[in-house]
Amino acid sequence: MVWSYATDYCCDDCAERFDLLQPLNTCPSCGGLLEIHYDLDRMKLDLQPEQFAAREPSMWRWHEFYPLQHAGNMVSMGEGGTPLLPSVYAGRKLGLSRLYFKNDALMPTGSFKDRGFSLAVSFAKELGISRGLTYSSGNAGASFAAYANRAGLDATVLVEYLANPIKKSMISLYGAHTAALYFESMTDITAMLERAVQELGLYQFVNFINPTRHEAMKSYAYEISQALGWKAPDVMIHPVGTGGGIWGAWKGFRELKQLNWIDSLPRMVAVQPYATGPIVRAFKQGARHAEKYGDPTQTIAQSIAADAPIQGGRRVLNAVYDSGGFAETVTNEEIIEAVQWLGHEGICAEPASAASLAALKRAVEQGIVQQDDCIVCVITGSGLKQPSIIQQAAVESELKLNASFEELNKLLASLWP
Ligand SMILES: [Zn+2]
Repeated sequence: MVWSYATDYCCDDCAERFDLLQPLNTCPSCGGLLEIHYDLDRMKLDLQPEQFAAREPSMWRWHEFYPLQHAGNMVSMGEGGTPLLPSVYAGRKLGLSRLYFKNDALMPTGSFKDRGFSLAVSFAKELGISRGLTYSSGNAGASFAAYANRAGLDATVLVEYLANPIKKSMISLYGAHTAALYFESMTDITAMLERAVQELGLYQFVNFINPTRHEAMKSYAYEISQALGWKAPDVMIHPVGTGGGIWGAWKGFRELKQLNWIDSLPRMVAVQPYATGPIVRAFKQGARHAEKYGDPTQTIAQSIAADAPIQGGRRVLNAVYDSGGFAETVTNEEIIEAVQWLGHEGICAEPASAASLAALKRAVEQGIVQQDDCIVCVITGSGLKQPSIIQQAAVESELKLNASFEELNKLLASLWP
């Protein structure tokens, strides 16, 4: 049995190809982003969609679609395989008959980042890498710390000074070195990291600079298509910071289409905060390159508060344009309302995740999705990591009673007259 059908890296810019077992971040020739290629012709002959159903329900169910060569190097805590929940509340409010939530708040460290780090850390282990660095707004850092520590990889996380205290604590709890990162703009961070690759040869785990993380996000496409009976949704809505999630999912859907396992592709929708939405601004201007824009301190959706995406957000914009999708910003008020709506779905989401539902509400009002469209909103992280927002979104009960049957009886009579 072939464990992986990955063939090599290919540079987005100069198209030079590189052996997969080199420890590469960006292209050694031109600094462009590297994309991993697969032998899809052979996969088409060897694999059938039905054969995957009996495997373990994690993202590793789809190991043929990742670059890891040997199962023994897998670092896994049961990531992926999360439920695709049909809506019981928001769909009715919006008049949508087929709305689903892909709930990645249920992952081992509480966010969708675990898919990417399970693969990236496993692959680093395979390459013999013993230390690595990432920058993070919180979720990625916690995930990297947890997986790296389990793999015996020495991890350093530069965490944005804006990250909330719980996320910072999780990074330390999971055993990584960590430092608070101060900056004027994401462009400072990107320039620092790209120079560190070139001058220090330091292996990095930052989205896209690391060519493997978004490969794991392809598992969204596989899991969702499988759950829908090998059909793609019509619309997939994803919160976007650097955009590893939306780009990976789009790549996964395109692979499935090439294999003829699905017969259509979803429209990919990128969501960013109103306070800082460089990709949405570029989309509304018809551009394929996003310039620095906005103020990351002005949004509660800190996980997607990137004012300047890596390499101009080209991959995200390509996913949006090439799929016939769209990009939208949402305000803090719209996000809080979506956090409340998700509560009625049984989902405690962090603000960045609720942004996907807030964007859907806007899209319905603007008539750019249809009532009978099959729509998937990705819930990328748990609200438990940003408790102050959950407290803000919930109306706290002022009811009190002493522990006596009479008082309970009186309380219940007032609740259920
Ligand atoms: Zn190149």
